[in-house]
Amino acid sequence: MSEPDLLLDAARRGIRYREGIASRAAQPAAEAIAQLKASFHGPLPEAGLAPQEVLRRLDEEAGPATVASTGGRYFGFVVGGSLPVATAANWLAAAWDQNAALSQMSPAAAHLDAVALQWAGQALRLPEPIDGGLVTGATTANIVALAAARTALLAKLGWDVEAQGLYGAPELKLVVGQEVHDSVKKALMVLGLGHARVTVVPADAEGRMRAEALPPLDAQTIVCTQVGHVHTGAFDPVGAIVDKAEAAGAWVHVDGAFGLWARASRRMDALTEGVERADSWCTDAHKWLNLPYDSGLVFTRHGPAMKRAMSAWAPLLSEERQPAAYTLEQSRRARGVDMWAALASLGREGLAALVEDSCAHARALAEGCRRAGGEIPHELVLNQLLVSFGSEARTEAVCRALAEAGAIGATPGRWRGERYLGLSVSSWATRAEDIEAAVQAIAAAVAKAG
Ligand SMILES: *Cc1c(COP(=O)(O)O)cnc(C)c1O
Repeated sequence: MSEPDLLLDAARRGIRYREGIASRAAQPAAEAIAQLKASFHGPLPEAGLAPQEVLRRLDEEAGPATVASTGGRYFGFVVGGSLPVATAANWLAAAWDQNAALSQMSPAAAHLDAVALQWAGQALRLPEPIDGGLVTGATTANIVALAAARTALLAKLGWDVEAQGLYGAPELKLVVGQEVHDSVKKALMVLGLGHARVTVVPADAEGRMRAEALPPLDAQTIVCTQVGHVHTGAFDPVGAIVDKAEAAGAWVHVDGAFGLWARASRRMDALTEGVERADSWCTDAHKWLNLPYDSGLVFTRHGPAMKRAMSAWAPLLSEERQPAAYTLEQSRRARGVDMWAALASLGREGLAALVEDSCAHARALAEGCRRAGGEIPHELVLNQLLVSFGSEARTEAVCRALAEAGAIGATPGRWRGERYLGLSVSSWATRAEDIEAAVQAIAAAVAKAG
């Protein structure tokens, strides 16, 4: 098969997959998973397969074992779909196969990286111009942001952490909320700051850090806040936290993996008040912005510190912005291409509508769950919700019945020791009919659970 025919074959298979998504169950059938494991096993073959056979096998033998998260009825974890324009741009970028590390390696990739970063910062109403980088996701964004914080605070104390490491360094104080995301813990582990060597601030009933319970802050302190709690969607009161931190010279980091996108809508200003006054921010683009995996953003108002933390190699310190100067990765794909495509096609209005529609769908979903006898143990502030159905055992039975039916994607989760059904509305593809279908599926699971 010629190269054009092979690429067309892949495109046709991809198009057929996406067209079929609406009529598929959200969860793959057990037989599809068994077939996947039976098809893909054994040692590396001596002789290679024909390229069209490689594609056929992937499409026919692995495709059915995918989760239909590009469709409108997947509500598990916090998983966005992928906007058609972003997927199309991603295919084009794959054809270009550019290395976005340096402007010399790809002027197009490096420039679009820079433009996409500024546009995303403007969409989120962060200070302008903003510094930062396009990364693989919120976990790496947390690592990069907290590395910048570590560099900046230690440099002020006369310590060069890049050269000397943490041996004998002045001690930094880390403050996290009681409901901090595990990815922040991972960042603290990786950066030698220790996930257990933190002051934990108690949270209120919604999972928000209680600003009045903060310990005394100083210029050796990093406060890790969260906007968008994975279970409840709750926002830490970042404005009140920054008020205290600013006066003390502490650094405030915001983990806003999905919640930061609430800033795209002016209707949610009360929720996101003060977020723009933090020192660093992390977010995902593969969640609520609906970009293909993997894609995230890290931002800071302290660009030189981030650059210092991420640039072991002298060319990265050049005058012209080099994408790799702000990230863990050196060689990497041109993430700015599909990010630019999504932002260009949505504009501010489309982005606000995406976020507001998801929240409206989440409210409708909550209403439907209540009609089916569910209880929601928190305020519904965003796109995330938890539902319980009476007892622990009954909620578990509903989760099981729902997973067995497979029509919608949902997460059987646990929060504060209790069992819940977790639902997230994060996809551009979700429509009112999908919410109706989800409510029906949940009601059927409740009936089955008895
Ligand atoms: C999803 C999430 C993360 C981690 O994001 P990845 O994309 O999995 O790296 C971090 N923090 C919060 C609040 C999240 O919801």
